[in-house]
Amino acid sequence: MKSIQIHQTGGPEVLQLVELPIPSPGPGQVLIRVEAVGVNFIEIYFRKGQYKATMPLTPGSEAAGTVEELGPGVTGFAPGDAVASVGVLGSYAEYALVPAAQLVKVPSGVSPEQAAAAMLQGMTAHYLAYSTFPLKAGETALVHAGAGGVGLLLTQIATRIGARVITTVSTEEKAALSREAGAADVILYTQQDFVAEVKRLTGNKGVDVVYDSVGKTTFDGSLNCLRPRGLLALFGGSSGAVPPFDLIQLSGKGSLFVTRPTLWHYIATREELDWRAKEILGWVADGSLKLRMEHDYPLSDAGQAHAAMESRQTTGKILLEP
Ligand code: NDP
Repeated sequence: MKSIQIHQTGGPEVLQLVELPIPSPGPGQVLIRVEAVGVNFIEIYFRKGQYKATMPLTPGSEAAGTVEELGPGVTGFAPGDAVASVGVLGSYAEYALVPAAQLVKVPSGVSPEQAAAAMLQGMTAHYLAYSTFPLKAGETALVHAGAGGVGLLLTQIATRIGARVITTVSTEEKAALSREAGAADVILYTQQDFVAEVKRLTGNKGVDVVYDSVGKTTFDGSLNCLRPRGLLALFGGSSGAVPPFDLIQLSGKGSLFVTRPTLWHYIATREELDWRAKEILGWVADGSLKLRMEHDYPLSDAGQAHAAMESRQTTGKILLEP
């Protein structure tokens, strides 16, 4: 089978297409034929060595496809089932193994591309809006990188809850997409001081929650956008890691809360995984959650996909097609 492998950390060129044997599922595992691969920022962190991994590495954790073979002890799935997962053990490949505990069935009417586009970023947006800071109608959220994969989905989900969403984006084109997703106000943080804009837009009150995936360049400003006792959910570092931080600042800025959540802790039980996946895939099926899938690459062009994502050229989801 064709697979992408990394032998050493580095730039997009370290993503090499190789031939590997199709793996056999062990106990509790399912072999899937991958039909669409979701590309996520975390794979860039692994490729660059910001997150550590054993080499050689087949990157990727998100994919949708068809069940090919069940490992010993697996129940609840059958060959031919349409499935998706964010726990694939190396999804940049034609076939991949998945722990059955992390696999979900894809409802009819949802294509493999849609499922691969929705699962990771959709469930991330879901846990941020329903669990990390359970948003209520009438509350105001600031979402950074509002035209990104998570950003567009989080804006739609927060809006359907009835919250007011303010976003930041880097270009006018991205601003238009963010507005289309439901943002009430969009700030061009590459041209405007987003803290001053948020203060102006909220009559100096500040927002209830900031969902910040940009990190290094936005973290300090995000704290300054919050109302007293507001919460900052720092869930990524697209611009780099946030440097060490003195907690006493949280007191001076209004008894603030900061959390650094990650999806895995919010889908750790079968119940929570099923809840989030069912809602996200259900909303995709009924058309109430819109996916943006403008960036589609053959598996062999994984390096190009990474380069586009890193250089801020992309909006919405990036997919690889094996
Ligand atoms: P995006 O599609 O949002 O891409 C990243 C965006 O970040 C860019 O398009 C860009 O938007 C913005 N950005 C700002 N500064 C930079 C910079 N210096 N370099 C690159 N991009 C920059 O990616 P995803 O939706 O896949 O992921 C968003 C973030 O969420 C990532 O940091 C990812 O790691 C994180 N994440 C965290 C999860 C968790 O559970 N903790 C789960 C899923 C994702 P603009 O041009 O508008 O500034």
